[in-house]
Amino acid sequence: MSGSTIVPWVVGNWKMNPTRAASEQWTKEFKQLLQQTPILAEQCHLAIAPISLALSEIKHQLSGTPVNVVTQDVSRFAGTGAFTGEISADLLADYGIQYVLIGHSERRELLGDEPQVLREKLKLALKAGLTVIYCVGESLEQREQGTAEVVVLQQICDIASVVAPEHWEKQIIVAYEPIWAIGTGKTASAQDAQSMHEKIRAGLLQLTSFGAQIAILYGGSVKPENAKELAACADINGALVGGASLNAQSFYQIVEAFAQ
Ligand code: PEP
Repeated sequence: MSGSTIVPWVVGNWKMNPTRAASEQWTKEFKQLLQQTPILAEQCHLAIAPISLALSEIKHQLSGTPVNVVTQDVSRFAGTGAFTGEISADLLADYGIQYVLIGHSERRELLGDEPQVLREKLKLALKAGLTVIYCVGESLEQREQGTAEVVVLQQICDIASVVAPEHWEKQIIVAYEPIWAIGTGKTASAQDAQSMHEKIRAGLLQLTSFGAQIAILYGGSVKPENAKELAACADINGALVGGASLNAQSFYQIVEAFAQ
């Protein structure tokens, strides 16, 4: 427990996983865990980001629980129209999806999400009323060169021109995910993570008067084994969890660590 007044968020990023049967089993198990020991909204906010094909189905299966559903991406095109394969922020909102991940390093590195594309996506997501979980993080090379802080703060500044004060207040969550810690089993030490979160907090305070109340999540090989130590850090207000979120029991244990 950090002593911060920010209610933590624990968000599972399922990436291109799992099968339909496995996700159905997950929701069944997770609902049972919540029934045994409920997590209150004032303790911790919960969310899961399934593949877009399953958003409505998972939302339906989790209705009546505190688990929110997050889309892993959004189109940079607005409304409806001739954009094959795309899903706009407006359509997501229309289908009742209220949260979106933007800027995940896998999309930045593999799928062409350059800063300008991210700004376009973010602008439309905010306009449609979605809450954005905006991911930032440095590569191993950048950390070794000593530029991690500059890189991460630049990624925050990249979006400043499209985020209005009212968006910072209600629609932005930041996730710090050092790329070298994603899916590798290497977690940043709690001290290293806290140190970067402190710098992000200072950066946010310079950009917006709401800087003190924005949740900053840590992501990168978060597991039940390291969640408590991360949750105890003053500026770590939750976790974005990849691999460990695919197991309902592990994800629940991480939630418990942040909810205490
Ligand atoms: C992620 O991809 O957002 C992530 C943090 O993955 P993992 O927990 O598997 O490192």
